[in-house]
Parts: sequence; C-alpha cells; structure tokens
Amino acid sequence: MTGVQTCALPIYTTMAKVKLTELMKEKQLLSFEVFPPKTDKGMENLPGTIEKLCEFNPEYISCTYGAGGGNVGRNREVCQEIIKAGTTPVTHFTVIKNTKEGIKQQLEQYLAEGVDHMLALRGDIPLGETTTCGDFDYATDLVAFTRKEFGDKFEIAVAGSPEGHISCRSLDADIAVLKMKQDNGADYIMTQLCWDMEQFKVWLDKIRSAGVTMPVDVGIMPILDQAATINMALSRNGCVMERELARLISKYWLFPNPFAAKDAEGKPFDMFYEQKVRDFKEAGIEYTIKQIDAYRALGVNGIHLYALNKWQDVSRIIKESGMRTLV
Ligand code: FAD
Repeated sequence: MTGVQTCALPIYTTMAKVKLTELMKEKQLLSFEVFPPKTDKGMENLPGTIEKLCEFNPEYISCTYGAGGGNVGRNREVCQEIIKAGTTPVTHFTVIKNTKEGIKQQLEQYLAEGVDHMLALRGDIPLGETTTCGDFDYATDLVAFTRKEFGDKFEIAVAGSPEGHISCRSLDADIAVLKMKQDNGADYIMTQLCWDMEQFKVWLDKIRSAGVTMPVDVGIMPILDQAATINMALSRNGCVMERELARLISKYWLFPNPFAAKDAEGKPFDMFYEQKVRDFKEAGIEYTIKQIDAYRALGVNGIHLYALNKWQDVSRIIKESGMRTLV
C-alpha cells in the first residue's frame, strides 16, 4: 500500500479555483500531458519544458501518476512546476495499491499544495495480480469517494475510451461505466487516444444517447517515433491503427524492426536508419496535425496533447496546426 509523508496542511479553498468545464463552455481548450522524469537530470530539465509549453497559454497541464504511487513525490514536484509556470495542474491519480486512508491523505496534500484538479483513474492492474491491490476496484469508486470526502474542492476528469477499454465486456457496458462516473460526480472526460475517426463519432453519438453530457477533451499522441507509436497502440490499449498511419509505419519501417533497430554497440542495422527516423517524424507530425484538424472540426471541447516531455516537436505541431491562431 502507498504510504505518503504529509506535512502540516494549510486551509485549502472551498472549490476548485479554475473551473475548466466553465472555460469549455466558451472555447475549445488546449492542454498538455507531461510525465515525471525518472532521473534527476530529467527533473532538472522539466521546468524549462513546462515553461516552453506555457508559451502557448494552455488552459492546463496534466501530470501522469505511476500506478501504485511509485513516483508520487515527483508527480507533486511537477505539479508545483506547472503552478510556477502560471497554469493549472491536473494530477492523474489511480487507486492501484492505494487504501482509502492513503487516498484521502494524498488528496489532502494535493489541495494543501494548490492542486485541485484530478484525473480519477483506476490504473492498470499490476502484472501478476488480478485486483487493484487497494481498497477500490474502479475509477467510479474513486470519483464517488472524492466527492464524498472533499465535496466540490476538486474538479474531476475521468478517462473515456472511444474504442472501449481493453478489458470491457462491450462498448455499451463501458459507456454505462462512463455514465456512472458522471452520476458519481465527474466533471469531464479525457479520452484515450483514438486514430479511428469513424469510431470516435460512433462513440460520441452513443455516449450522448446514453445520457453522458460531460464535455469531451480529446487525447492526442503526437506521432514522432515508430516504436513508441506501436507500443502505445498495442501494449495496453488495443487501439485500431487506421490505414494511413499503418502505411506510414510500413513506408519508413526500420529493419529488422523498430524495437530492435540497433546492435549491441548501438549501430543501426538499417543502412537508411537516420533518414527514415527523420522522414517518419516529419510524416508523423503532418499526420498529427491532420488529426487535430479533424477533431477540432468535430467541435470537441478540448485538445489534450500527450507532450511526452518533448516541447520542440510539440511546439511545431501547435504552430503549424494554427491551434492558437486559426479559429
Ligand atoms: P475504469 O473506468 O475503472 O475501467 C476499467 C475497466 O473496468 C473497464 O473495462 C470498465 O469498463 C470496467 N469497469 C469500470 N467500472 C466498472 C464497474 N463499476 N463495474 C464493472 N466494470 C467496471 N494509468 C496510470 O497508471 N497513470 C496515469 O497517469 C494514467 N493516465 C491516463 C490518462 C488518460 C487520458 C487515459 C485515458 C488513461 C490513463 N492511464 C493512466 C491508463 C488507465 O489507468 C488504464 O486505462 C486503466 O486500465 C483503466 O483506467 P480507467 O480509469 O479507465 O478504469
């Protein structure tokens, strides 16, 4: 179980200071997701990354949370850097290996540190286990618990999977879960990545028919690297890779495969390695921009870019997509 150290807590505000759902009524939001770096060197570089991302005036930046609370200290540091850079932090939070008491303490700590927005998640079941190894089974429980313990102090986002969560019984059953999250007090949806626009539209129609009225903030992963793209799609999420993206990966395929493209000395096997890596990234950025265009045209409530702590590539995407200039 996760045990966190707490210090004396200042009085926190009675309600989330910035209401993202109110902003969503006025405009389509732009936000980023970052993760706590694993190394001290990475942590040193992060403030610069966050400042660069803040040049685009995102409405918020979210920070991932290691399942089991492994990096909770670093997650809190990152949230503080986000506040310092002048925007709203949204902490991801999972129930994995967390007790009710542990969750309450951690959430109190976040509030005391000025973090009053969360993405309430179950988290992935730990390898070799069949349960969350904590007091709660699902994100629905975390949403209900947070509302019961903290009232309106947090603005709460929840995950939505346009293709259905990998372990759901059916898309309809997964949508019923989303409705339960709303009924338990969630405020808005952050989606899992979805490259299949037709499926996204089907899901959007279905959730609205099921009475889910929460705004939808769409998660988009920039396509920059073959192995990372395949990994994100298939290692956990079971996302459909639509034809054009599959074509790009094939066109620039790193032989023998993108996961083992270099020998023990770090020398690439593919004689065109450097060129292919560069060309794939160019094509991937163009693909990502088209995807952003398609989602913006659908009128979703926000574009949430998984920034992967790579501000240069993300800046290019924002500038070239005209997200902050084209209405
Ligand atoms: P839930 O909504 O609880 O759903 C899990 C499964 O159980 C689904 O199949 C659902 O249909 C089913 N289910 C849910 N509730 C019930 C119920 N009451 N009765 C029966 N069945 C139910 N993971 C991390 O560890 N750290 C992160 O920072 C992180 N960030 C993420 C950010 C985004 C935008 C997204 C979309 C995912 C993120 N994840 C993260 C991954 C997430 O933790 C996994 O997808 C996890 O497997 C499910 O989390 P969930 O909140 O969607 O679970």
